[in-house]
Amino acid sequence: MTSPLPIWRGIFLFRGHSVVRLLRKLNEVNPVTEVRFLNGLDTIGGNIVEFSTPTSRVIMDFGVASDLTDETIDSAIANGKLPNLPELFFDRADKYTHEAIFISHLHIDHMGALQYLEKDIPVYLSEPSYRLYQSLIEQGIEAPVDNLRPMPFETPITIGEFSVTGFASDHDEPGIMALLVDDGRHRYGHSGDVRLNGPHPQNVAHWAQVFNDAKLSLFMLEGTTYSFDTETPVEDQAHPSVALTEASLQTAFGETLDQAQDLVVVNPYQRNYDRLAALAATAEKHGRQLVFEASDAKILEDITGKRPTAVLNDTVSLGDIKENPGQFVLENQFSHLDVLADLPVSMYVHSNGEPLGDYDPRFKQLQDWLASHQIPLQFLSASGHALREDLIRLAKMVNPKIIVPWHSFHPERMADVLDSETRAEVLMPERDLYYSIDEN
Ligand SMILES: [Zn+2]
Ligand SMILES: [Zn+2]
Repeated sequence: MTSPLPIWRGIFLFRGHSVVRLLRKLNEVNPVTEVRFLNGLDTIGGNIVEFSTPTSRVIMDFGVASDLTDETIDSAIANGKLPNLPELFFDRADKYTHEAIFISHLHIDHMGALQYLEKDIPVYLSEPSYRLYQSLIEQGIEAPVDNLRPMPFETPITIGEFSVTGFASDHDEPGIMALLVDDGRHRYGHSGDVRLNGPHPQNVAHWAQVFNDAKLSLFMLEGTTYSFDTETPVEDQAHPSVALTEASLQTAFGETLDQAQDLVVVNPYQRNYDRLAALAATAEKHGRQLVFEASDAKILEDITGKRPTAVLNDTVSLGDIKENPGQFVLENQFSHLDVLADLPVSMYVHSNGEPLGDYDPRFKQLQDWLASHQIPLQFLSASGHALREDLIRLAKMVNPKIIVPWHSFHPERMADVLDSETRAEVLMPERDLYYSIDEN
């Protein structure tokens, strides 16, 4: 049930700049911070928020909301696929003396628009995400971006009147940060994508406590799992898989390896390099070598400083695998699916690799190809996103004055629960309007 929410108490909404200008006159000595939500309010993808004063601006995340094929920058902005920031895409002058972009993590929906930047604006990421980005750029997987800067965790970065601090968190991109913005009078928190049942719950508990101590005026909380009719995202709506954690996934993977006579193939998502390393360790424990695709071997090498020993067409050939299929696990990206046609494959393990699910037309191609080659398909997936009850628990741990549910196809479902179960005012903002915290 969706009921109208008491969303405007405690917040002023300004439509257009004339009202804002009037307010600035009243507050010239100590201008208020304006908050503008630029995208991603009712979708998973492209959630972007801007905090600004007359001299300073920080932008949180910079993803694309959907596919930009056949779009120009102008049409993508008009169609809501890129944020309404033409000054950054066309390198036009703006009024800010100090400005920067902060990226919570390297998933496309949080960083995919960086490649279209024309303005030379600093882009801050966590150190691990920075190293991953450099690896992807070097390999031509991502386009180069000027002015990328690594930021250490829990070390505030000053951008004019703002101070921004990143905290290690838990998600299926291991460099994930939660972000805290301080304008000297109010604190604003951005959860980034987050889960509580991952390998690092202590990270989340820590930043939630810091956010709580900071008495947040505004907390933006992702709501991915409120998007679906199933409890967690599934690949195939017709045959929902069992949701696993990173830990139980490895146990299940070990069982699959023990049961398989011949080759086991695995398709993970390359940006989750912790999972890549864990799959290799499980394979080894069960008497097999995981043979990496060259690109993912390079990512592991760039992140950990150690090159995996088994790399396809480098240290291990397809001939080696064909001769002793029971001794190997082969990592396989969808674009190299044809390689499997000549190999004795006992099981194809889909582990959050691409294509990710049945909303992607390539997913049916994958299913059909495997079926026509009599290769069984198993889903061993762990979500990077918190369960619904964990999201509410997190909201209670942070205990902000105002909370914004976003990064969800159904933020209103989460808003209902937050409204009844937490003390926070729930705000469902509108795109491109300017909000400011009510001093009184
Ligand atoms: Zn993510
Ligand atoms: Zn996301």
